[in-house]
Amino acid sequence: MSAAVQAVQSRAQILTGQFAEIYGSEPDGVWRAPGRVNLIGEHTDYNNGFVLPFAIDRSALAAVRLRPPGRDPEVPDGVVRLASRYAPKGHGLSREEFSIHGLTPGSTEGWAAYPAGVVYALEAAGFPVPAFDLLLDSTVPVGAGLSSSHAVEVAVIVALNDLLGLELEHADMARLTQYAENRYVGAPTGIMDQSASLMGREGSALFLDCRSLAAETVPLPLAEHGLAVLVMDTRVAHSHSDGGYSARRASCEHGAAVLGADSLRDVPADADLSGLDAETRRRVRHVLGENRRVGQTAAELQAGRMDTLGQLLTASHASLRDDFEVSCAELDLAVEAALTAGALGARMTGGGFGGSAIALIRCADEEQVRTAVLAAFQGRGFREPVLFTVLPAAGAGRV
Ligand code: ADP
Ligand code: MG
Repeated sequence: MSAAVQAVQSRAQILTGQFAEIYGSEPDGVWRAPGRVNLIGEHTDYNNGFVLPFAIDRSALAAVRLRPPGRDPEVPDGVVRLASRYAPKGHGLSREEFSIHGLTPGSTEGWAAYPAGVVYALEAAGFPVPAFDLLLDSTVPVGAGLSSSHAVEVAVIVALNDLLGLELEHADMARLTQYAENRYVGAPTGIMDQSASLMGREGSALFLDCRSLAAETVPLPLAEHGLAVLVMDTRVAHSHSDGGYSARRASCEHGAAVLGADSLRDVPADADLSGLDAETRRRVRHVLGENRRVGQTAAELQAGRMDTLGQLLTASHASLRDDFEVSCAELDLAVEAALTAGALGARMTGGGFGGSAIALIRCADEEQVRTAVLAAFQGRGFREPVLFTVLPAAGAGRV
């Protein structure tokens, strides 16, 4: 049994004990759903393009017990009880509850919206959900761009899928959690994060076609090669990202229309871009180049080659910085400092304007890269970044 699997099992054991203390009896089981890192393929998803994320060895665990009518006479029927050690306003346990009947978008606030959104999506799809008790514990940092929200949603949906015998496919659960996040929580997220959390495999990444949702597992044996991915969370909030994000989407749509295509996915990599204004040309060039890099990365990994991976990541960053213009000083500094200290490649990951960057490093160089990045941030007077390594882990399931 690997150390990562052992760590999850001991977390699950602790969670089971805490569940019994809180709710008075043991859960029906514990389910795990990982966060994710997008290795390459940024701002390609809404252009119907390709992405290459992997599930990481940081995960949400959900201990769940169904409470069909009458199982616990002290609790009103239809009430879902939730608890999590996630306590944004202090320490200790955060407890919430909501009623399954009459769920409407916005009817539940705070973190309860994510489990409630999953219930809402299942009911909308015609699967009645009975009341349940849930205790959450997650090692996916919140707001670092590793998709802690999808880890919560996926943990809840895989638990309910098993307990209710729904036999949903991964693609169904990906769409349902997207529905939960889009329609109930109100966040306009795509399909990548849940897909990675559901379909990830240890030592592998997921080559995902965002148009057909076809997913292919590609080997990413970082540990075998003595490599790891260092996440560098700049802790810069994506404060201007909303306007910037929609402006980028609009540029891409405009570019596709001028080029006579439904989406940039359908524009050939060597298309003549001279008819576009300079800004649109840069945006389009990024998307075409990024799709090509994702395909190239997947092909290299399929062929068992890791030696060009670093260069592809660094090329992605340059394109996001110069052509798509969604980087920021902190992300650029993290990338530069990591590369100077010996990282094999580095790039911003996620939507940009803040959030995290990743660096592909040799495990033997970890200390030196960390030290260099911290020193660079201190030298510029930037807030201290949070640094940690991740490895490709298995997708969601029962512990
Ligand atoms: P991220 O990029 O990490 O997904 P989001 O803002 O989309 O950031 O989601 C973070 C939200 O997910 C938190 O504010 C909280 O509501 C919920 N969440 C994440 N982890 C937990 C947890 N362990 N317990 C309860 N809620 C959580
Ligand atoms: Mg999220």
